[in-house]
Amino acid sequence: MRELINPTPLKPARKPAAPVVIWNLIRRCNLTCKHCYTTSTDIDFPNELTTSQIYTVMDDLKEFKVPVLILSGGEPLLHPDIFAISRRARDMGFYVALSSNGTKISKANIDEIADINYQYIGVSLDGIKDTHDQFRRVKGSFDQALSGIHLCLDKGIKVGLRFTLTQDNAQDFPALLQLMDDNNIDKFYLSHLNYGGRGNRNRKDDAHFAMTRDTMDLLFETCYAWLKEGKDREFVTGNNDADAVYFLHWVARKFPGQVEHIKAKLQQWGGNSSGVNVANIDNLGNVKNRPFSEIWLDTTDPLMAGLKQQPRPLEGRCASCHYQDICNGNTRVRAAQTTGNFWAEDPGCYLNDIEIT
Ligand code: SF4
Repeated sequence: MRELINPTPLKPARKPAAPVVIWNLIRRCNLTCKHCYTTSTDIDFPNELTTSQIYTVMDDLKEFKVPVLILSGGEPLLHPDIFAISRRARDMGFYVALSSNGTKISKANIDEIADINYQYIGVSLDGIKDTHDQFRRVKGSFDQALSGIHLCLDKGIKVGLRFTLTQDNAQDFPALLQLMDDNNIDKFYLSHLNYGGRGNRNRKDDAHFAMTRDTMDLLFETCYAWLKEGKDREFVTGNNDADAVYFLHWVARKFPGQVEHIKAKLQQWGGNSSGVNVANIDNLGNVKNRPFSEIWLDTTDPLMAGLKQQPRPLEGRCASCHYQDICNGNTRVRAAQTTGNFWAEDPGCYLNDIEIT
């Protein structure tokens, strides 16, 4: 969007030495959300990394030149050593962000949170009030999360709203944008749900895809309007790299003269970068047995090799897609979950056949 308003020349693409790491430090969570991808709950899970094992992994990540740690969970603030871990990460020079459900940010710990100086705290909201509480299955969790957000804002901490879009909360998206505007919140992260789908359905008539498209249109329009008003806010979308192609079509409709410039920028961005610029250390891996840096570079694993291959060995409509260089085949886990084949087309692509030719 900034490139539409203030175009900048195309510079050589940055090639980071190591990926951004999203780190699910702990699986325990005080909430049990309907859409939780780690199936967390409020118990201690066995075999998680001890704090000293976390430090060993952190040292390896630093040496490997990982620039960013996004500390997540479960609920990372339930980790008994979260502040020591965060402080150590900051002292080592990582960019450190926290992904929280917000309910554990309180008057009792806000000074300590502010003192860590996280570069960013993302708080998940699934909607306004009742919608959120229903999703989170805890009454009052919306008010608690909002109070956490206000405590952070009062301390000048950069805060973002994190919203996972589903058919049951899309209706709250406009109200969340309003909440963002009213509170002058810096960032909005919209995550698409990893929607499996039902094989070869008709994309044109699919209600889920229609809802996704409407939501993206509103996101683009709001982002553009706010930037024009001088409100410098960030929008990020995740879990669906077809967003970039959909955005290009939006630009073609609204700003036809700038399509080529935006296309070049999106090509440079290059679409999905799992296995290249983005990594996740989840609760099930084996960084206890092998350093992250070794696992990351081990392309004897066919999935790791395929993710790092350029172009990826894609199949189905992703293989023949005209915008592969902008999307890079989207989310491979979704393809694998629905077909058992990591290289099958992504069933979460909400573009119709005309839009990919
Ligand atoms: S067809 Fe595949 S590569 Fe093309 S936009 Fe859709 S998900 Fe991306």
